[in-house]
Amino acid sequence: MTARGKKTVRDLRRGSRSTLLRRLYFDGPLSRQELGSITGLSGGSISNVTGELLADGLIEECGSVESDGGRPRILLRVAAGRAHLVGVDVGETQVRVALFDLARTELAASDRPLDDRGHDAGHVAELILAGLAEVLERTGTDPGTVLGVGVGVPGIVEQGAVERGGAGYGGVGQGIGSDLGGGAGAVVHGQTVGWDAVPLGRMLRAGTDLPLFVDNGAKTLGQAEMWFGAGRGARHAVVALFGSGVGACVIADGARFRGATSSAGEWGHTKVHVGGRRCRCGARGCLEAYVGAEALVARWGAAPPGGGEKAGLAALLAAAVAGDPAAVALLDEAAEYLGAAIADLVNLFNPERIVIGGWAGLLLGPRLLPGIRAAATEYALRFPREQTEIVLGTLGPAAVTVGAATLPLSDFLDSGGEFPRRADAAAPAGLRA
Ligand SMILES: [Zn+2]
Repeated sequence: MTARGKKTVRDLRRGSRSTLLRRLYFDGPLSRQELGSITGLSGGSISNVTGELLADGLIEECGSVESDGGRPRILLRVAAGRAHLVGVDVGETQVRVALFDLARTELAASDRPLDDRGHDAGHVAELILAGLAEVLERTGTDPGTVLGVGVGVPGIVEQGAVERGGAGYGGVGQGIGSDLGGGAGAVVHGQTVGWDAVPLGRMLRAGTDLPLFVDNGAKTLGQAEMWFGAGRGARHAVVALFGSGVGACVIADGARFRGATSSAGEWGHTKVHVGGRRCRCGARGCLEAYVGAEALVARWGAAPPGGGEKAGLAALLAAAVAGDPAAVALLDEAAEYLGAAIADLVNLFNPERIVIGGWAGLLLGPRLLPGIRAAATEYALRFPREQTEIVLGTLGPAAVTVGAATLPLSDFLDSGGEFPRRADAAAPAGLRA
């Protein structure tokens, strides 16, 4: 441990590498001159550090731009193929495992439906490990290039011992991710899926030696929207996940607001009706019991049987578009509940932006947004409401896997591009027998 104020040369070098990698990752391609003016690092430092990063294969040259009167300036960017990321979405009906390159291009994905064991934790862990093996094998990926496996789960994640903590440096994409590596110690409290202190990290560790990161799915989605989607540039924001259930990720002053044990942002279980409808969590009157996709389809009662929740919600929307009065009334009411609940977020957190994401948000958002905005204006205090824009998420249905993949990515950028040590370097192919 280095004493405060006594940074070693190694710390400084790591800090400079991290700063430049982050800038190139989020804003690249950039020339060395642009890097200098953005970061304030000296020309000599920029030259040394970019030289190192080039030698490590972490960045690459990609053309040049003319400069006023001088020599053309060479552009640099992060080398997309140098490392890989895995993102996992433990969804309502399936487990999706996706392999990405560093530029977040999806190279392969495996979708495995939950069988009649549902969210049985052992079953979910098996599906994750099988999907991981499949995407690595199909692409012939060397596990040594995989920075980690990020897993988004339904439920509150109690973070265990961090396998390798991120230091955190200023700038875009910092702060909301550097503390997320839950590693093999992560324990999940998923009340709506029957998970009571499930040691998911340990269960996955039994089958893979890759670095593990586990977090709540709404929070991984939030991180993805903040880094690459509709949240970019905001320092005070709430990203709402609107799916089968409802959740939120609160960003306060650029950092994720976690609370004492990481459960902050359980917005879906705020009460909109005392003594109201029974929620999946067991309590009455939760927002989720009124506007979650599962609740909407159940309340409508006219969805085609056996079609599943997504088909049911699509049928509800189609009926509303066709003018069916019951469908129109239900969606109008959902917009009002969401708007009122967003007004609570506005009054509590004073965000500059609220982003509505999630698969149901993508599907219903364009129809509900005007009603949501109007209700938020009606229910929120006027001054903070005037400071808040309410927008739809811009990332598609893959946002949760992308967000999960940012968990190891964040650690990698913080470290200045250090490849993590695997839990057991001797095990082959990233998977244990
Ligand atoms: Zn609830």
